[in-house]
Amino acid sequence: MLDDQALRDLRGSLIGTVIGPADVEYDAARRSFNALVDRRPAVIVRCVGTADVATAFDFASANELEVAVRGGGHNPAGHCVLDGGLVIDLSRMRSVDVDPEAGLARAQGGATWVDFDAATLAHGLVTPGGVVGSTGVAGLTLGGGIGHLTSQHGLSCDNLVGAEVVTSEGAVVRASADEDAELLWGLRGGGGNFGVATRLEFQLHGLGRVVGGSLAYGGDGVGAALRRFRDVVASAPRDLSCQAGLAVDGSLAPTLSIFPCYTGSDEDPEELAALKAMPSLVEDAVRPLTYVEQQSLFDSTYGVDRNYWKGHFVRELSDELIDVLQERIVALGRPPGGVLIESLHGAPKDADPAAGAVGFHRAAFNISAMATWQDPALDEECIEWARTTAAAIEPWSVSGGGYVNYMQADEPTERVRAAFGAEAFDRLQALKTRLDPSNVLRRNQNVPPLQAA
Ligand SMILES: Cc1cc2nc3c(=O)[nH]c(=O)nc-3n(C[C@H](O)[C@H](O)[C@H](O)COP(=O)(O)OP(=O)(O)OC[C@H]3O[C@@H](n4cnc5c(N)ncnc54)[C@H](O)[C@@H]3O)c2cc1C
Repeated sequence: MLDDQALRDLRGSLIGTVIGPADVEYDAARRSFNALVDRRPAVIVRCVGTADVATAFDFASANELEVAVRGGGHNPAGHCVLDGGLVIDLSRMRSVDVDPEAGLARAQGGATWVDFDAATLAHGLVTPGGVVGSTGVAGLTLGGGIGHLTSQHGLSCDNLVGAEVVTSEGAVVRASADEDAELLWGLRGGGGNFGVATRLEFQLHGLGRVVGGSLAYGGDGVGAALRRFRDVVASAPRDLSCQAGLAVDGSLAPTLSIFPCYTGSDEDPEELAALKAMPSLVEDAVRPLTYVEQQSLFDSTYGVDRNYWKGHFVRELSDELIDVLQERIVALGRPPGGVLIESLHGAPKDADPAAGAVGFHRAAFNISAMATWQDPALDEECIEWARTTAAAIEPWSVSGGGYVNYMQADEPTERVRAAFGAEAFDRLQALKTRLDPSNVLRRNQNVPPLQAA
């Protein structure tokens, strides 16, 4: 517990806002997306620039406080908040500058995808981001980044071309192809292990029309529709990104939703027609949309639901795996919650594997069991469902590692290592040892420094 004088000293030493347990904003500021997470930090520092971030690190070190970093506050593990420690909160650092001639955007470390899209769309430009606007640009990109433009332009981290990072020792370092290229490699997937990214620079792409929305399927043909989704994405042009979700309806029967995002010029692409032709289609809500509308399809409440997610990148979506997923979704036994199936066809396959630490470019799909509920009495049951479902998917896993962006806090280091592969993980550990030797930044999908490994 920090005394009042310590909080006053901290307030006097930075430009941003300092929030302590006695302040009215405290309860709102310590919330996390995941209502399973209810933690009480000693202090929350809402930084406004690199100097504030460095001051916050200094203060934490002087007062022996553990550190958490908050970007958009969406990590399901709740890594943005901790008991008794200091939160470096970037929610006042959300500006995004666009250089349309260079085709580049520079986002501050606390920008969300709503901030980013608003700035770049003013110039008719985009970069592939997440599907929920309030998710942090930095947090999502540092773990990979899968969304509505993945097949068109790759993962978010594939489009990261530079960054400014404040290390846990207060140094400001820059990463780009010419300046600390090893750090740029690590930031492309290696998470928040190396420092606080105060600025991230992205390559932008032109965007024409969007045909998006959703297709809903029910009844006996859900399995056949999921097989059609698999076959369509296997041969889809790269201007069609596609995600799918299994859930159960009120009568506990399986349902399937498909979320295409087509950005090509064909008025009636055959891949969309093939998806719509399935007899189990019960609702066709696919239509021309603005990109902003497409990006709001998954908008969700914040801090209300309890969540536990677990999954695997798989090499194929075989008929047998589709049967397994249908069995598992019925075993869920209640809405909401479901199984998310993200296709990685198209541009991710073009990325140079040596350009980033991220380990899943070669996978066919990311399949995640997502338990979502509100009643604390259901915690054990829902968590068990997600774990059992992930275990049922594991025989098809490419590496045994899951998606770091969706991992809970209870995942062991071995699973984080498996997510990257042994060689990349060793390299990440060397980078970590250089930039955060004391593992100050350990509230994340942690890459321990070598001496602490
Ligand atoms: C509703 C929802 C939708 C999502 N949609 C997608 C999606 O479409 N695609 C996808 O790939 N993922 C998605 N995710 C997962 C999401 O990308 C990750 O959980 C990510 O970590 C969230 O980042 P954040 O900044 O919002 O979260 P926070 O909880 O604030 O941060 C998570 C961690 O990221 C790191 N971090 C954040 N900002 C910085 C920074 N500036 N510098 C250094 N480290 C930083 C820190 O380690 C921090 O602990 C979604 C999650 C939710 C809850």
